[in-house]
Amino acid sequence: MESIEKDKKEKEDFNFGPCLEKNCSYCCNPVKVERFFPEDEIPVDENGEKIWEERQEILIPENEIDITKVKSYDCKNFNKKTGKCSDYEKRPAICRRASCISKDSKESVDEQHKKATRGKFIVIKT
Ligand code: SF4
Ligand code: SF4
Repeated sequence: MESIEKDKKEKEDFNFGPCLEKNCSYCCNPVKVERFFPEDEIPVDENGEKIWEERQEILIPENEIDITKVKSYDCKNFNKKTGKCSDYEKRPAICRRASCISKDSKESVDEQHKKATRGKFIVIKT
């Protein structure tokens, strides 16, 4: 019962992203998270191995140079040849929750997607 409730809650939390239709890998190549993102929240595979590998770089959004720094990762599930997640249907909860689309927005999916993906980053090697 507890598990059913948990599954239901997770489904409610999941967001739609037009990743496949738009052939978009903005969130995955590389994975971008806030600078102090905790290691123990990195998703793991069926063997308990972390699927994200930290890149030796810090990304700084061009439009937030003074206030934001972003950590980046390569994801083992990202297929560089196809530009897609190799396990999209079963992607981890953290990936399902991330979306460029808000259900409450008055803007179209296209507009929201365009805005979300136009951000550019300055890359600082560490
Ligand atoms: S920006 Fe949107 S469409 Fe692109 S990968 Fe992220 S959630 Fe998917
Ligand atoms: S598991 Fe899939 S959706 Fe999640 S970061 Fe990796 S490639 Fe992207």
